[in-house]
Amino acid sequence: TVSVVLFTADLRLHDNPALHAAVREADEVVPLFVYDDGVRAAGFDAPNRRAFLADCLADLDAGLRARGGRLVVRSGEVVAQVCAVVAETGAERVHVAGGPSAYAVRRENALRGALGADALVVHDAVVTALAPGAVTPAGNDHYAVFTPYLRRWTQQGVREVVPLPRRVRVPELGSAEPRPREEVTGTSPGLMEGGEKAGRARLKAWLSSGLAGYEKGHDDLAADATSRLSPFLHFGALSATELVHLARREASSGAEAFVRQLAWRDFHHQVLAARPQAAHTDYRARGDRWRHDEREIEAWRTGRTGYPLVDAAMRQLAHEGWMHNRGRMLAASFLTKTLYADWRVGARHFLDLLVDGDIANNQLNWQWMAGTGTDTRPNRILNPVVQGKRLDPRGTYVRRWIPELASVPDRHIHEPWNLPPTEAADGYPAPLVELGEGRERFERARGLV
Ligand code: FAD
Repeated sequence: TVSVVLFTADLRLHDNPALHAAVREADEVVPLFVYDDGVRAAGFDAPNRRAFLADCLADLDAGLRARGGRLVVRSGEVVAQVCAVVAETGAERVHVAGGPSAYAVRRENALRGALGADALVVHDAVVTALAPGAVTPAGNDHYAVFTPYLRRWTQQGVREVVPLPRRVRVPELGSAEPRPREEVTGTSPGLMEGGEKAGRARLKAWLSSGLAGYEKGHDDLAADATSRLSPFLHFGALSATELVHLARREASSGAEAFVRQLAWRDFHHQVLAARPQAAHTDYRARGDRWRHDEREIEAWRTGRTGYPLVDAAMRQLAHEGWMHNRGRMLAASFLTKTLYADWRVGARHFLDLLVDGDIANNQLNWQWMAGTGTDTRPNRILNPVVQGKRLDPRGTYVRRWIPELASVPDRHIHEPWNLPPTEAADGYPAPLVELGEGRERFERARGLV
């Protein structure tokens, strides 16, 4: 017998229930990846993620080869490609990880329609630690507030980790080669390496020397003390379920705080699964009539707002295709509240660059910061000067990304406009808008004053 595993956001061999089930039930398995026209058309195929994907596929192929198999690669419309592989091999079943996005659900439904309900097996809790919908509050189809969700998520517990397949026998059939990373142009210069192997190396280092200090250090911008595992989770090169188990073994306050962040990831996925339109429309409309000043938005995109912490974060994004969570929060608060620009403008820019750019976590975190999402304090505004003094007191993070401010003394690093004229930072812009003015405009627009 032959079974197909369609890899989507689960590009790994470890703890992969879809692959595990296929290997267990069939004599031969087709580990299939399709460069899907639909994903490209939806605008998710940005260079940084394309490069990371190339690493993931090369690594997956190498891992399968080490087990006697290989990755089978096709391109085109995903359902048509799966059907072609089924027809060529006489496969009886297709296994796929369930996804929370509208696109993943449409793909699942189309596969079910084309193959028949009995031939498609959709596996839960492959992309997330707990499947969307696994816990729901009374009277609603999803949790709209994180704290009660976390409580239930913690009580529910996650599934057991499935074993790594020892051998994968793949039938003879045509396959393209995975597209090499070298062919991808337009990537960020400091982009990290992808793939399950790189992810597991990072995970190992994180467990032994990062996790314990996570609770204390996770907001420290200078220390850069978060795991940076998000791109591996986004592509499924690491399993969120496995991470929960490994972190819990450590039993430290750092491990607890880290597991809580993984619950945040699941939280946003379950919101999106229940409200797919929240990827594009306000989860909670506040009657906003956003401003659109292209000059201001461009200054924000290029890290030239005149607020050092916001600019450092935006330059980190351009350089690495990744940004510290606090940077993301500040940059998003500044755009949507201080400049009062539409969260979709910011979310689009992030998706163009973030290597972990993810429809659930990006759009819903943006909505959270814009106050149109699940935040129970939707009108709070982060102050980049106050936050800078607290989270980057010596300006280490700012100086790392803004060379114009390299020699500004610590006491002025977050307020360079206060420098005496003789010491003014060369080439660094004046603030785009005064913070108080931005606040007033926002509060008036929201009807708070
Ligand atoms: P760690 O601090 O080490 O956390 C561990 C893991 O927990 C992360 O890898 C991530 O998977 C998860 N996590 C942490 N914080 C959050 C959160 N707030 N929401 C959901 N999951 C979280 N995360 C993405 O994965 N993709 C995105 O596109 C994305 N866009 C964002 C946009 C904005 C405006 C904001 C404020 C946050 C966004 N985040 C996004 C969430 C968060 O910033 C990143 O997950 C985190 O910075 C990744 O770094 P890390 O792996 O070092 O995180």
